Amino acid sequence: MKKEEIKIFEELKSNFLDIDPANFIQNNLTIDGEDFKILGNGWRFMVDIYRYIAINATKKDGKPVVIKKGRQVGATVMAGALDLYFTNSGLFSKPPIRVVHLFPALAQVKKFSQDKLEGMIRTAKGDVINKNKLKTANAVDNLTMKQFNNGTLWIDSMGADADRIRGMTADIVFFDEIQDMFSQGIGNATKILTAAKYGPIGKGVQVYFGTPKERGSHFSTIWDMSDQRYYHLGCTNCKDTFPFYLPNDDRWKEIWVEGYNIKCPLCGAVQKKIDAIEAGKWVATKNSEECQYTGFHINQLYIPYFSKENILDLMPENNPSQTERIWNNEVVGEFYSGLGMPITKADIYDKCRDPDRYFSKSIDPRIKKSYFGVDWGGKADGATGGQSYSCVVVISVTHSGEILIEHAHKLRENSFNYKKETINEMFRRFGITRAVSDWFFGQDVVHDIQLRYGDRFIGAQGSGSLIKPLKYREEELIVSYNKDLMVEELFNLMKKGKIRFPWKSYEHLEWLIEHCTSMEMRHRVVGNQPVKKYVKGSGPNDGLMALMYAYMAYKFDLTNGFTIRPGANKKISMPTPVLANIKRSI
Ligand SMILES: [Zn+2]
Repeated sequence: MKKEEIKIFEELKSNFLDIDPANFIQNNLTIDGEDFKILGNGWRFMVDIYRYIAINATKKDGKPVVIKKGRQVGATVMAGALDLYFTNSGLFSKPPIRVVHLFPALAQVKKFSQDKLEGMIRTAKGDVINKNKLKTANAVDNLTMKQFNNGTLWIDSMGADADRIRGMTADIVFFDEIQDMFSQGIGNATKILTAAKYGPIGKGVQVYFGTPKERGSHFSTIWDMSDQRYYHLGCTNCKDTFPFYLPNDDRWKEIWVEGYNIKCPLCGAVQKKIDAIEAGKWVATKNSEECQYTGFHINQLYIPYFSKENILDLMPENNPSQTERIWNNEVVGEFYSGLGMPITKADIYDKCRDPDRYFSKSIDPRIKKSYFGVDWGGKADGATGGQSYSCVVVISVTHSGEILIEHAHKLRENSFNYKKETINEMFRRFGITRAVSDWFFGQDVVHDIQLRYGDRFIGAQGSGSLIKPLKYREEELIVSYNKDLMVEELFNLMKKGKIRFPWKSYEHLEWLIEHCTSMEMRHRVVGNQPVKKYVKGSGPNDGLMALMYAYMAYKFDLTNGFTIRPGANKKISMPTPVLANIKRSI
């Protein structure tokens, strides 16, 4: 063949292979410049999901796909790869496909687009993705929108109710971390698919995925409506397949002998985990024809490079730092509704949401009293490494005792001066009556700020005292507090709807909701008394701590420095504010 013909043939071959998403990924994408290998190396369960979405879900009789997954099973990479496959493979170019990848809030959009997707585009083999970008004069290429020759990709935020994407038209929507989304937003978002050119008419292609959290959520509802497929392993000896992981079923512990060895329960042959995965297949546990969704379940047991010992070490009975909730949600990918969950996102949505209220830009202290709390952490927002954030939460309290969250943010820097300036700005902007701050991790700043504000800025130090859960040490300007009791008080207020979240500022609030719902509860017995203990879950809780400090600042005023028993003196220390009444009648 002539050189020209060979070239055309090679291109044709490569284009043909690109029709298969797994081949497209291996041929074109890399992971940080390293080969993105998913064929023949134990990721078969994932490859089959890629193929299902590309081939079946895009058909006219396709069904929405729901993927219930443990953490760190490669789903984010999968989503990014699929985004690029749909918009760059050329298979969906007539008409050019429109893909929307939705996250619960803008913070996750930024993280995914900047950290993951941009990297995948930049390191693609032969720069194919960049070369495929639309080059017309008004072509868009930014963090949330990318135009290619064969399609357009949007990475955007669902927010509270899918406001940002309203009026758009798309063919595919990926709902990423669907557990953290609310039903109303999901309902609105699916409306952008009514004119979809791929997938079922009027419905388009819908892919929902996330790590499960609480039972009873929207996510658990659609999972229940799916055919719930589990991945069965295969035997290279008897050629049969057998279930490995199933919920509430311990058989995997027998099948997985040790290390990377899998023993076939049918013939007894022992083989490598990777081989058993490659010989396996997806099996539905319900009649697929009767189900509205196609469901796939993946968890950490299937990760090819995880040994049995890795998994055993993640079990709460073998590892005191693992909770039941982390094991269920993140390792085996199951919904969990133990007593260990003090408050859920659904609770906050149902009971604590002020649908029409925004964050306050500033507060006039003549109109209402406000308080703030600050928690110091070692980690600046957006930076990597470390565990906690510095953050502030500003509240005001209505005359009927409702605590309004007026403002909250994470500090961008952790320098001494930046912290000091932030505190000064909070006092100024919100006309703050009093604030409470974590003392242990912020001693230098707290001392410095107290030189200016005195007892309007009090340090807080944890204590185990059950008799006096709040005690003010006047000379030191420090309040000692029992964290478990204070956190419990806060959760009880939330359950009664007494703490109000300004839902119009949802994008700025989402992280705080996350922090408020991440803690876990344990029971212990102290001196024959059952005591609830709140421990840090897998996510950060600094925002909740800042809210707790703000609440303590309010309580300080309410009880005249904790010298009055709460409740006994409410009428005297909290007279109905006259101005608030006037404002109401306007
Ligand atoms: Zn066998």
